[in-house]
Amino acid sequence: MDYLEGLNPEQRAAVLQTKGPVMIIAGAGSGKTRVITYRVAHLIRQGVDSFNILVLTFTNKAAREMRERITHVVGPEAKNLWMGTFHSVFAKILRVEAEKIGYPSNFTIYDTDDSKSVLRAILKEMNLDDKLYNANFVYNRISAAKNNLIGPREYNSNEQIQADDFSTGRGQLGKIYETYAARCFRAGAMDFDDLLFKTNELLREHPDTLYKYQNKFKYLMVDEYQDTNFSQYLIVKKLAAINENLCVVGDDAQSIYAFRGANIQNILNFEKDYPDLKVFKLEQNYRSTQNIVKVANSIIANNKEQLKKNVFSEKDHGDKIKVMRAFSDNEEGKMVAEGILQDRANKGMKWNDFAILYRTNAQSRSMEEALRKLNIPYKIYGGLSFYQRKEIKDLIAYFRLTFNPNDEEALKRVINYPKRGIGDTTVDRIILAADQHGITPFEVVVNPGQFMDGRTSASVGNFGTMIQSFQVIAKNMTAYDAALHIAQHSGLLKDLYEDKSVEGLNRYENIQELLNGIKEFAEREDIEEKGLDVFMQDVALLTNDDNDKNKDADTVSLMTIHSSKGLEFKQVNVVGLEENLFPSQMSLNSRSDLEEERRLFYVAVTRAENKLSISYATSRFKFGTLINCEPSRFLDEIDAQYLELDFTAKPAPTGNPFYEDERKAWNRKEDSFSKPKPASAAPVKTTSILAKAHVPSENFAPSDTSNLQNGMEVEHERFGYGKVINLEGKAPDIKATIFFKEIGQKQLLLKFAKLRIV
Ligand code: ATP
Ligand code: MG
Repeated sequence: MDYLEGLNPEQRAAVLQTKGPVMIIAGAGSGKTRVITYRVAHLIRQGVDSFNILVLTFTNKAAREMRERITHVVGPEAKNLWMGTFHSVFAKILRVEAEKIGYPSNFTIYDTDDSKSVLRAILKEMNLDDKLYNANFVYNRISAAKNNLIGPREYNSNEQIQADDFSTGRGQLGKIYETYAARCFRAGAMDFDDLLFKTNELLREHPDTLYKYQNKFKYLMVDEYQDTNFSQYLIVKKLAAINENLCVVGDDAQSIYAFRGANIQNILNFEKDYPDLKVFKLEQNYRSTQNIVKVANSIIANNKEQLKKNVFSEKDHGDKIKVMRAFSDNEEGKMVAEGILQDRANKGMKWNDFAILYRTNAQSRSMEEALRKLNIPYKIYGGLSFYQRKEIKDLIAYFRLTFNPNDEEALKRVINYPKRGIGDTTVDRIILAADQHGITPFEVVVNPGQFMDGRTSASVGNFGTMIQSFQVIAKNMTAYDAALHIAQHSGLLKDLYEDKSVEGLNRYENIQELLNGIKEFAEREDIEEKGLDVFMQDVALLTNDDNDKNKDADTVSLMTIHSSKGLEFKQVNVVGLEENLFPSQMSLNSRSDLEEERRLFYVAVTRAENKLSISYATSRFKFGTLINCEPSRFLDEIDAQYLELDFTAKPAPTGNPFYEDERKAWNRKEDSFSKPKPASAAPVKTTSILAKAHVPSENFAPSDTSNLQNGMEVEHERFGYGKVINLEGKAPDIKATIFFKEIGQKQLLLKFAKLRIV
């Protein structure tokens, strides 16, 4: 079994344990994903039919990479594996089984925009106060309910939920949920959460179907198990119930989707669900240098809620972690980009080796600008997907309508685009008529004469006839010919062609690009079903990375930390380490939110193999105004012995009015922590503060520590009382070694440390 070389004994044991329930909860970079990959290869080598293996991954990209690796070991057999995200795998199953739960097999998948648009229409009809009921809020509420498998009926009959809603003045939520679900059903549409919710319904209501898939998926594996929600948990549990050949891997310290309903309880319950569970521990990190692993450990140690793990690396110590200070977000971009340029040249690296990770999508702007100025090729992952562009969505809406004429959101989107004289009032009338007569809007559209007067009725009727003609075309032509026909005859291509602006040209090219994609699809030899309907099926689930034609292109990767999960890069820059940005402002109200934010930082740091740089700006443009920023508390938490500071950036030269505000902000910051203050005598104290128990205070106010001396007693916001035992370095980079009564010795960088002299 030489293909199992390259596993340590513990990993190998986990791979060889193919029968029964297996759980691996282990630190970052310890080979969890590798174990799954090898395990699948091993199963196939042992003669398990690849059709019988289901692997659930966190992104489609991860699934693709895994499949490639497995192909190396077992050959084309790997093609038949069921492998992908929960959403894509169960969308595929629902396509086959939809009719059992009352849906057409060509059901539409509503993306978030579609769902919110449905909600906005409902809120408007119900005349609700938009302060209490805005579409985002309602969407999240419904999503949370679905992920806990609470349908509209359960929602409305649950006394606790009803009491909660009424107490916040939102007693109508249940009614909205019910209407929303009914609208989606009428439109033959499922939203993202439905893909899991309805799968649960299918498996619950149809034991024979459950049995079929239990027998089909004889072996199940789930990566990133810590981020599964209740709905996902139950699907896995049900599917595995007969064979119990289930292997889950994850890391509680990397759980970062609580806001989407992910529940750490899924890990803790696992032992209860499977008493004969085999647990494997992986402790060696193969990804990162010792310094990076130690920094990561020192970050996560600040969280109270975590399973104990001892992660270590046997790689070199590596460089210290570089902390860069910039005086503005633009300068931060410049420092990061220049660093990448230099390291690439000096160390002979590729652009591919670098990643820039940020907390929020908005931060990509300053990074992009800086990279462009230096001609560094880059790619943004998880940003606005190709399929989310307006022109693409428009054409796709025509396709959607062709295959599922009940798709109300698609209908509303294109009934008057390109313009054909059908105004909003007419659209409202169509929907109202459908509601009143218990038919679908499309049925109104093809029989308009009964519902509206002459001229309007003619335009609406023509639109209906056109869609019906597309249905015939789609049945009889290849995917590409049908798509081209629809793009032309809907008038969409002409409309874009006539817009000669740069953006217009761009949009026209994007449509061409989509048509090319369809052509390629139609010419593929490895699949049998190649109709436009098949191409269309799961377009809503595609992300930017899935549409990546040049996935091997040599570019720097930019992405949010959330989408970096599971990935690794030689060098990583984590940017924007500022209070109210990272940790985000919204996380400051509760310990559990703050701990989730800290886990996110842990995820970011553990993506790096050889070198990690962290940066912050002392001022940043937010919503068009310049604001001052404070370094993140997370910087303060890192053990300073692993840090190397780069504070070489200087404020921009004066005289350039653009920089004037930034310069002022910069000077103000300098004042606050680096100018030496006149020494004042340390207060004389008779009893040591160390005798007192430390009570953390909400209103902790750090004091000026520029004249801190050996032997002084201090209070730290979280570490409690301590005594200074050593000071080294020059202002503003003084490092203080402090002995804390409660947690022992720690080295802190004074300018980040939230300290008070007592
Ligand atoms: P994460 O928690 O970030 O998802 P993980 O636990 O899934 O990490 P992997 O991505 O599987 O870790 O492995 C991290 C890196 O270490 C990969 O590059 C992998 O190939 C390598 N690696 C894992 N185990 C070994 C091993 N036994 N020998 C050599 N390299 C290994
Ligand atoms: Mg992994």
